[in-house]
Amino acid sequence: MTAKQPSDAKSDKHKRAMQKQKAKVDQHIEEAAEERGVLIVLTGNGKGKSSSAFGMVMRALGYDQKVGVIQFIKGQQLSGEEIYLRDHCPQIDFYQMGTGFTWDTQDRDADIAAAKITWAKAEAMLKDDSFQLVILDELTYMIAYKYLDEQLILDALRNRPDNQSVVVTGRGGGSALQELADTVSEIKEIKHAFKAGVKARKGVDF
Ligand code: ATP
Ligand code: MG
Repeated sequence: MTAKQPSDAKSDKHKRAMQKQKAKVDQHIEEAAEERGVLIVLTGNGKGKSSSAFGMVMRALGYDQKVGVIQFIKGQQLSGEEIYLRDHCPQIDFYQMGTGFTWDTQDRDADIAAAKITWAKAEAMLKDDSFQLVILDELTYMIAYKYLDEQLILDALRNRPDNQSVVVTGRGGGSALQELADTVSEIKEIKHAFKAGVKARKGVDF
């Protein structure tokens, strides 16, 4: 019998580690017995919050689920996902705050009025159990800038239908929202092309 090569030992060690990891994951899967919708908050300074939310829209559409999308920010231009959903997925309820808040907002009263109209659309979805997934894109800023009442938002999220999942995106948003959420991910910026002078790109940034 030949002596074990170092690479065999390494591979055995890897195998044992993987088995251990799998046992852990399997145990978690077995323990997770509850069936209900979840509240997900995607926050942090790095790129990838809204695009992750739209990834979940794709997933839900794959199972013919009913999806609602509310964007609490008026973009400089239409974003690619908005164009695509409008043209190819008429079954999706998509609403973008048409007036008011942009990144260089100046008229607080007009912003608040627009935020309230937009929130009314969101609130209706949060009461409608036919929506299995609701995206509230950039909602955190409405809380941070006090455009909308935080308690009102938290109550509507808390009292939504059992089977409904909600994804909230945006930086900040406060600890109460994070406490209420089932899943919170913070996307940390390591670097961003923009800071090296690269222009925002169609299909990547919007
Ligand atoms: P995305 O929509 O690409 O997933 P996001 O939702 O995480 O990004 P937002 O804060 O909503 O990020 O910003 C939207 C726009 O700003 C996108 O064009 C995105 O590429 C850009 N962006 C995101 N993070 C940064 C950053 N750290 N520096 C500069 N621009 C950023
Ligand atoms: Mg975003």
